[in-house]
Amino acid sequence: MLQPGLMMDLPLMLSSIIEHAAAQYGDIEVVARETHGPLFRYTYADCAVRARKLANALAGLGLEPGQAVGSIAWNNHRHLEAYYAVSGSGMVMHTCNPRLHPQQLIYIINHAEDRVVLFDATFAPLVKGIAAHCPQVRHWVCLSEAVHMPAIEGVANVVAYEDLIAPHSAQFAWPQFDERSAAALCYTSGTTGNPKGAMYSHRAIVLNAITICSANALGMSTKQTILPVVPMFHINAWCIPYAAPIAGTKLVLPGPKLDGASLYELMESERVTVSAGVPTIWQGMIAHVEQHGLQFSTMRVTATGGSAMPQSLIAKFSDNYNVEVRHGWGMTETTAVATMGSLEGKHTDWTPAQKHALIARQGKSVFGVEIKVVDENGATLPRDGASQGELMVRGHWIMRQYYKAETSPLVDGWFPTGDIATIDAEGVMQIRDRTKDVIKTGGEWISSIDLESAAVAHPAVAMAAVIGVKHPKWDERPLLFVVRKPGQTVEKEEILAFLSERVAKWWVPDDVVFLDALPVGGTGKVQKGDLRKQYGGVFS
Ligand code: AMP
Repeated sequence: MLQPGLMMDLPLMLSSIIEHAAAQYGDIEVVARETHGPLFRYTYADCAVRARKLANALAGLGLEPGQAVGSIAWNNHRHLEAYYAVSGSGMVMHTCNPRLHPQQLIYIINHAEDRVVLFDATFAPLVKGIAAHCPQVRHWVCLSEAVHMPAIEGVANVVAYEDLIAPHSAQFAWPQFDERSAAALCYTSGTTGNPKGAMYSHRAIVLNAITICSANALGMSTKQTILPVVPMFHINAWCIPYAAPIAGTKLVLPGPKLDGASLYELMESERVTVSAGVPTIWQGMIAHVEQHGLQFSTMRVTATGGSAMPQSLIAKFSDNYNVEVRHGWGMTETTAVATMGSLEGKHTDWTPAQKHALIARQGKSVFGVEIKVVDENGATLPRDGASQGELMVRGHWIMRQYYKAETSPLVDGWFPTGDIATIDAEGVMQIRDRTKDVIKTGGEWISSIDLESAAVAHPAVAMAAVIGVKHPKWDERPLLFVVRKPGQTVEKEEILAFLSERVAKWWVPDDVVFLDALPVGGTGKVQKGDLRKQYGGVFS
């Protein structure tokens, strides 16, 4: 017979994170780029005070537990306060991606039934355009002082955040409730159909945040300073805004300035040691430091994910700048990071090239998450690094049902990710493609990701994308799109010759199309659907 454990049973609450930081790391700094330009600086103790004031203010507006508060905002300190005030009060922090089409924004604000929407001044024109279509929103709160709030004609009930919280008490008794209650909501930016909502629980977020502090993940401690470039409006900025106060890590929030020069300057001035961002951010950063002959004084680890980080970029960070890349994988439905690749003790003597090849893969599932790959019939494939199939995932912070959906997408308790992957004998996973992007040619599969990584290794190539184009004989053949670096004149023949040396002959694309820019969607991913619509005809 099982014995009961004799431990206290306290719910995992997000409010406890900011109170922990205020009590234990009250003097550790949070630095944020204000939307109107200057840097703002305070401590976790100050942040907790203002989160409590906001919690009182939201209650004063008549909001109740279970109701949703939307945000259309950059990574900044007021957004951070809202993360804690909203969820800590038992309400749902609904982070909206400002890059969604306005129609989709209207859809998600109405679907989530947001009662209040917090927005940065940058997005005032967006708010002006959508407010009339969001009848359930009673208050629009501009995350600024009144003096920096732009006039928004025609929108009623707009208030400046500082005016909203100023009269309220800094004391607030955070409610304690079931840790499985909803804390935050984020919608997938699906390319077809309406966005779908992933509703995160307190328990899921707390467990994920503790996990990503670990040395094998982001390695967070009081000795580190972290700058999440990953946005707070998309999968909780990988839960870094929760993990940093747990570990007492100084937090640097970059606001709207996400170009290579601004980020570099902030990293240097705030002595940032760890960062996290999508590969395009790191491409911009490397271009800046290369152009100006700079080095990083304190940056040592950069985590990346959201799309595949090309091996050539990993090599540059490591070999030229002494910055270790950690390559993670996750999706809106997985709260934050589900797998993370990092170098292990046994890799110390590996050659740089071996290390970079390992980090170009998406790593091992972190504790709390399990992964497997399955064939078309759902049978589990061997962990041999070669058998590829759909990646399935389950764990403490993996979604089981979309918000307000009637059915669950789970298959035997596992979430089907729509990604094609391999897993090797050591558990290292590699994303080969999206199920809808993989190119089927003569019965074999070509990974568009691998071809793109090979193409961006060419010194004249800024960005690359590959789609499958119908072919009468081979079913599909790859077509490569290239955006040249400024001032470069590289032509098709040179690129194809470059690729021939790096991939199998039958992988070499049938044609190359040069574009000024690739179509990019709300979360920074290339919209291959758009490319297919325009170029996906038939190869002869
Ligand atoms: P989203 O829900 O918008 O965050 O998109 C999640 C999708 O991004 C995943 O299903 C993958 O297709 C892709 N993705 C995330 N991380 C990586 C990565 N490290 N490498 C390749 N694809 C990735």
